[in-house]
Amino acid sequence: MRITVIGTGYVGLVSGACFAEIGHEVRCVDKVEAKIEALLRGEMPIYEPGLDALVARNVEAGRLSFSTDLVPALEGAEAVFIAVGTPSRKTDGHADLSYVYGAAREIAAAATQRLVIVTKSTVPVGTGDEIERIIAEVAPDAQIDVASNPEFLREGAAIGDFMQPDRVVIGTQTDHAHQVLHDIYLPIEQQGAPLLFTARRTSELIKYAANAFLSIKITFINEIADLCEAVGADVRDVSRGIGLDNRIGTKFLNAGPGYGGSCFPKDTLALLKTAEDFQSPIRVVDAVVHVNETRKRAMGRKVIRAMGGNVRGKIATVLGLTFKPDTDDMREAPSLSIIQALQDAGVHVRAHDPEGVEQARTMLKGVEFVDDPYGAADGAHAVVIVTEWDVYKSLDLSVIAESMAQKVLVDLRNIYSEADAQAAGLAYTAVGRVANGAAPSMDATAANDQPAQTRAIA
Ligand code: NAD
Repeated sequence: MRITVIGTGYVGLVSGACFAEIGHEVRCVDKVEAKIEALLRGEMPIYEPGLDALVARNVEAGRLSFSTDLVPALEGAEAVFIAVGTPSRKTDGHADLSYVYGAAREIAAAATQRLVIVTKSTVPVGTGDEIERIIAEVAPDAQIDVASNPEFLREGAAIGDFMQPDRVVIGTQTDHAHQVLHDIYLPIEQQGAPLLFTARRTSELIKYAANAFLSIKITFINEIADLCEAVGADVRDVSRGIGLDNRIGTKFLNAGPGYGGSCFPKDTLALLKTAEDFQSPIRVVDAVVHVNETRKRAMGRKVIRAMGGNVRGKIATVLGLTFKPDTDDMREAPSLSIIQALQDAGVHVRAHDPEGVEQARTMLKGVEFVDDPYGAADGAHAVVIVTEWDVYKSLDLSVIAESMAQKVLVDLRNIYSEADAQAAGLAYTAVGRVANGAAPSMDATAANDQPAQTRAIA
């Protein structure tokens, strides 16, 4: 089947390449010429494991092509997927749908054949209805169905997630759209992935409900981690202890510096706006957004305490800048707030990241970027692990400690054990764990402003 994909970002490019891989003829369109030129040269605009080979294979096979020109790219297509960005609107935090509606207008103006427009972008409930209105205005005689097919892929594991998804959610209002989308996803269904067909509005809401639920899970374990520090418990065992319950599951239960990325922050905000508009508040998500936002800067204060409080003029080395490993995406990364908090306290920040430095340079001021994690630790007063890249999981801590001015390791991803750090001569601070299982009394906790963990480990 011929498919057009609008937008060659994470979702558009991965979806386009994967649709080609399962046998469709795919044309990907983007407005940004430099992106398309790079793709035509075989260069990927994003870092995603396996993507370059997947794209090269399908371009070579003649199933995948790139262009800035929508009109020829739509020729003969039966479906066009809109995969443009839906960032938070600057004025009120709701989803900015201007790119989606812009793309819908362009498609309506260019379409000459029967077509199904599919929103793959994450869009609030009712967006499909508005796209229908736009089509009626721009091309009243066009034969266009509008469907919803939200994407659930994770950056860093995007190809596997697309090819072997837990489920594919498809929202349609017509039999024709249902049939076209079923045909498109048949090869993926045949490999065992369930296709969930539902109404368009329900499909739009499923995406937000999924991301909100995962954000709740992360925030829940982060607050349990704080309680672990106060009572002398170990959050890793709490996670395992609850996660092994099938009703809960082990995923998204790693305590850390708070969620970031291109999706959870904006999608939770947009869901709250929808809930507000429909006077149906979701208070638990409201709390999650607030807790997560304050947590990121609180992690900066945690580092400052671990460094001894008086930090002006000291050096902190941040290992990991991207919001998670295996991506170069810096959007809403916790590292941004943590570094700002450190700089506000007069700390000189050095940073290392395997893939994120190029983006980070455009977002961070006054940070010294270093090519190698060992060199980055030289003369530092603290090393802070913010993102759990594989390269940070097997550091030689004694080599790190040797060159440091003050031997402090703050492990915001709970990679190391206290024993490992101590063996290297490093004072160790983690998340949701206390030194030697120390159990502060309730009185001691109440009497002291300092978090229990800092007291226990210092
Ligand atoms: P992105 O910003 O990386 O890419 C969007 C692309 O669309 C850009 O290259 C932009 O130039 C292009 N574009 C915008 N308007 C255009 C137009 N009219 N014609 C052609 N190209 C146009 O975005 P992304 O991260 O891929 O996200 C896209 C959507 O998918 C968002 O709604 C997002 O919430 C959702 N989503 C993202 C992820 C993720 O992990 N990134 C996962 C699931 C869902």
